[in-house]
Amino acid sequence: MKTPHQKMPVRDAKERIKNFSSVALGFTEEQSVLEAKRCLQCKKPVCIEGCPVEIDIPKFIKEISEKKFLEAIKTIKEKNNLPAICGRVCPQETQCELKCILGKKNEPVAIGSLERFVADYEIAPPSFIPTEPTSADVKLYGGASEKGHFRTKVAVVGSGPAGLTCAGDLARMGYSVTVFESLHMPGGVLVYGIPEFRLPKGIVHREIDYVKSLGVEIKCNMVIGKVKSLKELFQSNYEAIFIGTGAGLPQFLNVPGENLCGIYSANEFLTRVNLMKAYLFPEYDTPVKIGKRVAVLGGGNVAMDSARVALRLGAEESIIVYRRTEKELPARREEVENAKEEGIKFHLLTAPVKFIGDEKNNVTGMECIKMELGEPDESGRRRPVPIPDSNFVFNLDTVVIAIGQSPNPLIPKSTKELKLAKKGNVIVDEGGRTSMEGVFAGGDISTGAATVIEAMGAGKIAARSIDEYLKVNRR
Ligand SMILES: Cc1cc2nc3c(=O)[nH]c(=O)nc-3n(C[C@H](O)[C@H](O)[C@H](O)COP(=O)(O)OP(=O)(O)OC[C@H]3O[C@@H](n4cnc5c(N)ncnc54)[C@H](O)[C@@H]3O)c2cc1C
Repeated sequence: MKTPHQKMPVRDAKERIKNFSSVALGFTEEQSVLEAKRCLQCKKPVCIEGCPVEIDIPKFIKEISEKKFLEAIKTIKEKNNLPAICGRVCPQETQCELKCILGKKNEPVAIGSLERFVADYEIAPPSFIPTEPTSADVKLYGGASEKGHFRTKVAVVGSGPAGLTCAGDLARMGYSVTVFESLHMPGGVLVYGIPEFRLPKGIVHREIDYVKSLGVEIKCNMVIGKVKSLKELFQSNYEAIFIGTGAGLPQFLNVPGENLCGIYSANEFLTRVNLMKAYLFPEYDTPVKIGKRVAVLGGGNVAMDSARVALRLGAEESIIVYRRTEKELPARREEVENAKEEGIKFHLLTAPVKFIGDEKNNVTGMECIKMELGEPDESGRRRPVPIPDSNFVFNLDTVVIAIGQSPNPLIPKSTKELKLAKKGNVIVDEGGRTSMEGVFAGGDISTGAATVIEAMGAGKIAARSIDEYLKVNRR
């Protein structure tokens, strides 16, 4: 009899919206082994092509099927320093799982859930990687020791998934890596954006500790571009720099009334809740206004997170307003399903045209217009077109705008040598090299808002390029 596809156990929707505890509970050992046995162990494993960090997926799945869980996590960590995070938030359905041959007729192997299982299984600090790499260990990974410049200093700016991956890979190669982070806590979007019920902070801290155990030093409260320029980093004997400063600048609608009280950018809203710990009220008394009716504008992961957070903070109703149809929603499928189960209402083909306020400038309503889909735009998706005279008003008291983020402008603006694209993204070549000698970049700062695994893939590619560069260009 064929082994059935294993489903991720989740907490009941009615119970989970009362708090910030994890929604998805993770596979049991038995489920993991059963699911791993579904893998066909293809001779030409196309799933690996779908993984931006090139994990040997069939190998780690085979190890799980043989109950060799620590070997499985070792296989993953050869390529991925943040597996418990990726196992929770990667859009596998558009990456490795999309390529899985089983998925052509059946459910694909649940690669992400298996990755999460072994990452969580390995709670104790790993024993197979030395705390501080020696030059002998470094030979294993290639890199700095080959040219005899073991411990050459490299600076990484930003501690999101791009920076952490680049830093971890360079440390494994034997470089002396310092990460400079502007906030008081490392992790980037993983700690200030993605909420606790999807990605517990404890998991992120544990994976960051793992990166530190590879020899990476992290300095927080260091706003590069203000406290120190890139040139000053070079003067402090850093011989190459990686910029992974992300896309944290919120985009706005530019419609009348957008400055009314009670209208947040998703960035501010989620930072107050996550990084500033409003979700731990009354232990932390961070102010965040939640009315009875909250409207979240947008259709990506950021919008789903904001709407689900609002519900957990006490909103009676939390709605998503999106200008295209459900098919075009950019959020992970799982998050959309979870949001619906929790009672989030989706108002599709709808766009705001203005906000309405009371005499104290508090938002009380949002005028919207109905849309229909027209011809495809430059993104390939059908363009939403307003339907004349279809305006109507939503009554509400809080709005969260989650329609996209642009690259953080501080370093691009303060470093004339960096070539930028129209929207302020740092331009890089296929190896993550920028227009400035010795400076590399990757993740959301060069692609614009994308995904955790794409940022990690970019960090990995840049680490290889930095190594190649430093072997011939020592200062
Ligand atoms: C709410 C939310 C939910 C998301 N959900 C998902 C999901 O489910 N799955 C998924 O794959 N992706 C998701 N994403 C997208 C994903 O998190 C990002 O694509 C990814 O974090 C980008 O990584 P990064 O390292 O490029 O940048 P970031 O994670 O943004 O990290 C950049 C870091 O650089 C720091 N920094 C900025 N400027 C400076 C400076 N001048 N000096 C020093 N440090 C600086 C920032 O403080 C930050 O810590 C989500 C994003 C958000 C906002």
